[in-house]
Amino acid sequence: MSFFASAIFLKSVASLEQVPASEGEIAFAGRSNTGKSSAINALTGHRLAHVSKTPGRTRLINYYALGAERFVVDLPGYGYAKVPDAVRAPWEELLGSYLRMRAPLRGLAVVMDVRHPVTDLDLRLLEWFRPTGKPVHVLLTKADKLSREAARKILRGVERELAGLQPNASAQLFSSLRKMGIEEAAAVFRGWLSGESALPADPATAGTK
Ligand code: GDP
Repeated sequence: MSFFASAIFLKSVASLEQVPASEGEIAFAGRSNTGKSSAINALTGHRLAHVSKTPGRTRLINYYALGAERFVVDLPGYGYAKVPDAVRAPWEELLGSYLRMRAPLRGLAVVMDVRHPVTDLDLRLLEWFRPTGKPVHVLLTKADKLSREAARKILRGVERELAGLQPNASAQLFSSLRKMGIEEAAAVFRGWLSGESALPADPATAGTK
């Protein structure tokens, strides 16, 4: 059984004051309509996250409990053009402050459509997150829409781009529709939640052991 199969919806929060006590969590971010909800559902093996027909609707942070104060966190999708500025500003504020300040966050999964990887908004998100020193894993979703060869070529390009951007970033192909890449992704996230290695090195002690 998948590690994530035990996940159950806990609550939606609109501010950082409402987040639960946590021993460790992994978060999913991505542009609206890239397949983030579908990826969470594919990883957990059941319908947890709302797969939207109207992109950009979810503006809250959704917490799914894995037990023992560990969580999968679904962050608000970004970049949907029809959202007015008055709505977008507080929502980006919530996302940005969560990414920078949430201590129990072990790593960030960034969901990108394999056909439109690493957009300007994705770069902005990575920039917000980079100072934390925590790992990033990119899921290139909807890989079923491309030939295997074309998808692999994009993966290599994204890996090269990430290497220049983010010290501890990785990427993989993923398809919720074809159930492709689920084990590979689950292994990365399981590692983040269970291992000390997911925590950034303390510069004060690095290299002294
Ligand atoms: P979100 O807005 O990022 O949470 O995206 P959703 O999970 O709601 O998916 C957006 C749309 O993409 C929906 O119509 C999904 O059915 C479709 N979709 C999601 N994942 C895949 C995938 O792996 N392959 C294909 N072909 N379509 C997908």
